[in-house]
Amino acid sequence: MSPVGSNTSPPPVAALVIDFDGTIVEQDVSEEILQAFAPPAWWDIDLEFQRGEIGSRECLTRQAALLSGRRDDMLTFATSQYTLDPTFAPFVRWASEAGLPVTVASDGLGFYVAPMLAAAGVEGVQVMTNEVTLEPGAPPSFAFPNGHPVCRGCGTCKMLIVLFERQRHGPVAFIGEGHTDRYGALYADVVFAKKWLQQIAADDGVPYIAWETFDDVRGALKRIDLLPGPVGPAKCPGWTEP
Ligand SMILES: [Mg+2]
Repeated sequence: MSPVGSNTSPPPVAALVIDFDGTIVEQDVSEEILQAFAPPAWWDIDLEFQRGEIGSRECLTRQAALLSGRRDDMLTFATSQYTLDPTFAPFVRWASEAGLPVTVASDGLGFYVAPMLAAAGVEGVQVMTNEVTLEPGAPPSFAFPNGHPVCRGCGTCKMLIVLFERQRHGPVAFIGEGHTDRYGALYADVVFAKKWLQQIAADDGVPYIAWETFDDVRGALKRIDLLPGPVGPAKCPGWTEP
């Protein structure tokens, strides 16, 4: 493991956890799919989630129930219309050379994440997301292989992913932009935030580094010497028991 900062003792960051929609891709691909393949009521459900009235798991399952169309058509739509931030693939290559494991943590429809990464030539990243099965004539079914074993708030538990990577490798940098990043950001050692996550982090008292491109993140990770450390509470504030 190679330390990343200019100060070699202690190593500032040992692993990276990165949101996908709105972060690695400028657009939220799940929202774009819903916009194209579902009636407008999907947005009302999204607003319930954004207001904190429901968790992301309930949001996603109710939204997906509105989808009509074939999974392959949705995948073609996603991969033909949207591309990765051009600074992401070089960033992953740099992280690999620096010995930093990269986990892509996505709490959306999930099925397009690995194909879009592969289409951009991004290799060697761990993808943790939801599994949705879309068959013609049947309602969508979900599996949450990266959910919390008890809590049912989120589909993919970014808190658990950050804590796991932290336990496995050491201090974690979390890079994100939106509402599903709130709990990952609370438990990371350093947070890179843009868009909505900046206000969300500020409201939660989470210090963050503003970023626009992965070049910015790389530059900051090279310079950073002291990590703010996690500010997460004993139990995630999004905790929902079954
Ligand atoms: Mg996002």
